[in-house]
Amino acid sequence: MTSASIAWFRRDLRLHDNPAWASATAADATTALVVIERPLLDAAGRFRREAYLHALHALDRELRDLGGCLRVEIGRPEEIVPRVVRETGAETIHVNADVTRWSQQRDDAVDQALQHSSLPNLTRSWGTLVRPPGSVLTKAGTLSRVFTPFYNAWEKVPIDAPAVASAARVAATTSAPLPDVDGTPPPESEIVLARTIERADDYPTERDVPGSDGTTELSVALRFGTLSARHVARTLEGRGAGAAAVVRQLAWRDWYAHTTLARPDIDRVALRPEYDAIPWEVGADADLAFAAWGAGRTGYPIVDAGMRQLAETGWMHNRVRMITASFLVKDLLIDWRRGERWFRHLLADGDIPQNAGNWQWISGTGPDAAPYFRIFNPTAQSRRFDSAGSYIRQWVPELRGLDSRGIHEPSSVAPLDLAAAGITLGADYPFPIVDHAAARDETLRVYKHALETAREK
Ligand SMILES: Cc1cc2nc3c(=O)[nH]c(=O)nc-3n(C[C@H](O)[C@H](O)[C@H](O)COP(=O)(O)OP(=O)(O)OC[C@H]3O[C@@H](n4cnc5c(N)ncnc54)[C@H](O)[C@@H]3O)c2cc1C
Repeated sequence: MTSASIAWFRRDLRLHDNPAWASATAADATTALVVIERPLLDAAGRFRREAYLHALHALDRELRDLGGCLRVEIGRPEEIVPRVVRETGAETIHVNADVTRWSQQRDDAVDQALQHSSLPNLTRSWGTLVRPPGSVLTKAGTLSRVFTPFYNAWEKVPIDAPAVASAARVAATTSAPLPDVDGTPPPESEIVLARTIERADDYPTERDVPGSDGTTELSVALRFGTLSARHVARTLEGRGAGAAAVVRQLAWRDWYAHTTLARPDIDRVALRPEYDAIPWEVGADADLAFAAWGAGRTGYPIVDAGMRQLAETGWMHNRVRMITASFLVKDLLIDWRRGERWFRHLLADGDIPQNAGNWQWISGTGPDAAPYFRIFNPTAQSRRFDSAGSYIRQWVPELRGLDSRGIHEPSSVAPLDLAAAGITLGADYPFPIVDHAAARDETLRVYKHALETAREK
């Protein structure tokens, strides 16, 4: 008698080093299933939707090379998975687990539906992180609330061996065509990894320079699992200080994922509860300021460059993510949750653990966050990290005529020089929507008062 299994793909869209896929192929015949939830797909911003669909098409091509194809189903997983189990006679259903509130609820609902029909439960592995939740704990057996001790322990935990698939027969039935996708497919993940290795030595010096392509750009491949995070870490191991610096960033990614599993409300509440006492700006003026931020029209060129890069490409350089997020929270005093949602909608790599984790870091509300009184000065950051202004020139073309001194702060440029550069402030480019020094003082006052009052209660 032949055995049958299902590998249900979610954010692990690859065959290489995929624990769920490898376990599923222990059966004689395997169905490679994807369930597209229309409301979720429609809610994702254009760039994430495109990245997801490109990844599904690439996975389907891999499966076709094995003589099968991706079985595409559109609808609710708790209805579809039991139906496909019945149709295929699968004895096992393999998934890589995820950490978010929503994914936990989805998997629990599917398990309940399976149980209700006396079908086998999901077999869960970890295939999206370098080291799974629960494997990196303090001596007291808890997850560290501080990154550095987490990282020191994380480094010492052996990485699991690669998951190797067997030669199962891959089912060649599908019930829906894969939705078409526009746009250029991303470079193959292995090519991005090869580029990472090639340029790793420069990473520590280049990674903070938004005008260079000094970061790895691995985030979208990791978001959809077209690359295995642990494969990346294994490949970079022993390749010098630059490669080690990249791996350290993967530890941040793991830490935010482990934190999210422990605190699935990470996108909703301040992980330091007293910070939820901050009276964020609301109302018409705050809405106008938020709109100017989203449109890249704040009058702070580095902020505007970042927000336009995000809107036009679905990606933003990490240094600029920090500057723009800090500007929203600390200069405009707008609730970090509004910014988090805006980013998550637009980012191709947007996901709750990394996005909410980083927003809480910037806002001072998360574990091991930047202290609230450390406030980025956008102009100083711009001068330091985009000294020649090349990043600003790329994304804010109306400022191209300014020299590398004036481009960081057009409002301080002499009228004659502005005219020579063809710029009329207030018409071609906005005046600053807020005065940074005054905003900084006000934020410090508001944070301090709210925190002291909350702690006294
Ligand atoms: C406000 C804000 C929001 C963010 N939102 C997201 C998000 O939704 N999704 C996301 O993947 N990253 C997010 N990041 C983290 C980081 O900015 C991106 O991972 C990085 O810019 C992606 O580019 P890269 O792959 O070239 O990074 P590299 O610098 O080359 O880093 C390599 C990999 O390490 C991981 N990494 C790097 N920095 C961080 C970090 N600070 N936190 C967690 N992991 C990190 C990523 O997986 C990244 O691909 C956010 C950062 C900030 C400040």
